[in-house]
Amino acid sequence: MKTELPVSPDQTPHRKSWPAFKALALNVCLTLCLFSAQGCRTAAKNQAVHLPARHSVSAEQLIVLSDFKLGQEHPLFQDLIQLREDVAATLNIPLNSEQVTVYLFSNQEEYRNYLDLTYPGLPPRRAYFVGTPKELAVYTFWGDRIQEDLRHEFTHGLLHASLKTVPLWLDEGLAEYFEVAGNTPGQINRDHASRLTAALNNGWKPDMKRLEQLEKVSQMQRVDYQEAWAWTHFMLNSTPEARDALLAYLSELKTNESPEVLSARLPRDIPGVEDRFVNYVASLNTFPSR
Ligand SMILES: [Zn+2]
Repeated sequence: MKTELPVSPDQTPHRKSWPAFKALALNVCLTLCLFSAQGCRTAAKNQAVHLPARHSVSAEQLIVLSDFKLGQEHPLFQDLIQLREDVAATLNIPLNSEQVTVYLFSNQEEYRNYLDLTYPGLPPRRAYFVGTPKELAVYTFWGDRIQEDLRHEFTHGLLHASLKTVPLWLDEGLAEYFEVAGNTPGQINRDHASRLTAALNNGWKPDMKRLEQLEKVSQMQRVDYQEAWAWTHFMLNSTPEARDALLAYLSELKTNESPEVLSARLPRDIPGVEDRFVNYVASLNTFPSR
């Protein structure tokens, strides 16, 4: 439980700066303070609402809190520890020590009740990442897609622990990239690949500048997640020049909140980048699993 008063999100420089996020960040602090003063509040259906806390398992910068036992050796937990290494190595970002707390609810109902009370009006999603001045937190529940959800949200936590900020579209592109489990990062998201192929056949044109204008999670549609994933996959796997452009950008984000945008850098480093990207997207469906 938090006992300290909330501070303005603006006081921590490495948090997201989009307005909706600021509201959320303050909201979560206030709610947690209410909890510590009054104990658990009651949601609809008269069910006690509380964060999972009975069991904890931790290693490196990860701590998972749950009301059921999840051992240190559990494959899901070990997968996240490996993911941390993979994200740092792939993106050349430091292995940070700032803790990321995962609140793993036992079921969807308890998770939903907690979110409905804490963040009224949030669209229903299987998992959320919320960064506040006090905490990098992941909220999710034990379900069929728990590994994918944990990998996605933990990636957000790792990025925000190491960088001053991350543009929303790239934040999501990287989370989508690393959520696909496998022997190596960069596995193909088959659903995204087939939808993008269909979109190309229907005349869809990629537009990174448009993605860069998106500032709120509520503005991000499925097609935006798909395109963000594809740009990320392209930059990390097509050519050394594309990878270097992304890594240089991320490196600047460690200390600079607004470096020159990627849509301005890529055409300089990679002549004909739009056509090359389209060709890359068209070939994604043929990539073998690694
Ligand atoms: Zn996300």
